[in-house]
Formats: sequence, structure tokens, C-alpha cells
Amino acid sequence: MSTTVRQRKVALLGYRSVGKSSLAIQFVQGQFVDSYDPTIENTFNKNIKLRNQDFEIAVVDTAGQDEYSIFPTQYTVGIHGYVLVYSIESSKSFEIVQLIYEKIMDMIGDPNIALVLVGNKSDLQQNEREVSREQGEKLAKEMNAVFLETSAKDNICVNDLFERCVSQIEKALGNMDEGNPDKKCSIM
Ligand code: GDP
Ligand code: MG
Repeated sequence: MSTTVRQRKVALLGYRSVGKSSLAIQFVQGQFVDSYDPTIENTFNKNIKLRNQDFEIAVVDTAGQDEYSIFPTQYTVGIHGYVLVYSIESSKSFEIVQLIYEKIMDMIGDPNIALVLVGNKSDLQQNEREVSREQGEKLAKEMNAVFLETSAKDNICVNDLFERCVSQIEKALGNMDEGNPDKKCSIM
């Protein structure tokens, strides 16, 4: 067991209003904040222990992307892993994560980069859903990403999302196996 703390930086990317800030705040503060200023860009820190290793995670909550500002270059430097967030009630947001993914591949060009694809707002009713779980799974396979559906509101699979991201990062760095993920949250 190592006594050193590994510092890992994760960026939350995705269309506006998909719940990026809500996921970050739920993870770090354990609460759901209903109206968080959408223009604020903030970095949240949290320490976690994963398979006996301490990690200090910096979560970079971006202001959000659209087709005109897909992936600002500041997010290429010093980021270990990317969490691409869409909302299950917005097919537009599902299109945007695909554009962001293409841009990441163009700019970083590393097919082993740690990626997690997240369909947030899984608490919503089925009749509000515009993106099926199967569509999410299929896209994640194409991206070589881990896939989860989460609810920042009901705190479903939020911790798991960040733990899976750190596992992906360590795997990409050659530091550890993926271990046994929580099967109820993710399928890959
Ligand atoms: P961001 O623009 O991606 O940072 O999104 P926010 O975190 O600001 O959330 C946008 C809106 O979606 C807010 O009204 C949130 O309360 C709501 N929201 C965020 N996460 C969830 C969720 O898991 N479920 C539901 N039902 N609403 C959510
Ligand atoms: Mg936000």
C-alpha cells in the first residue's frame, strides 16, 4: 500500500443544463443544489480512497459547451480524464457529447484517454426520456468509454461515476486494474 496521495484532475464536459455542476456538488458536498449559476466555472476537490490508494480528485466543472464552443483548449492541459455528460431527456445534449468526443480525439489523439459517458437525470419519468439506455451504451462502446446513468438529484451512481473515472485514469496510466465495478451502476 502506498502512502502517497495521487492527484488526479477530471473535467466535466457537456451541453448546458445537463447537470454537470449538480454532479460535482453532489459528489463533493453530498447535496443537490437546484439553482446553481450556469456560467460559473469552478474546481471542486475531494479526497477518496480506492483499493487502498488515496486520491485527491480535482473536478473541473466547466460552464458547458455547444456547437460553437465545443472544447476550449484550456481543457487539454493537465486533465487526466474526461466525463462527458448528457441528459437522458435531451437528444440535443446527446448530439453535443458526440461532437465533444470528436474534438477530444482531434486535439489529444490518444485513444486510451480515460473517458466516462454519463446519462444524467435518470430519476425522470420514462415519458420524459429522449435517449435510451441502449443508445448510451452503444455510443460508449464506440468511444471506448465507461457508461453510467446517474441522478445528481437522487444521488444515484454519482460516487460510482467518479470512482470509475479514477479507475479508468489509473488503467490508462498503467497503475491498476479496473477492479470490480459496482454492477448495478455500470455495464462496461
Ligand atoms: P449544468 O449547466 O450542466 O451545470 O447543469 P446544472 O447542474 O446547473 O443543472 C441544470 C438543471 O438541471 C438544474 O435545474 C438542476 O436542478 C437540474 N438537474 C441537475 N441534475 C439533475 C438530475 O439528476 N435530475 C433532475 N431531475 N434534474 C437535475
Ligand atoms: Mg454548471
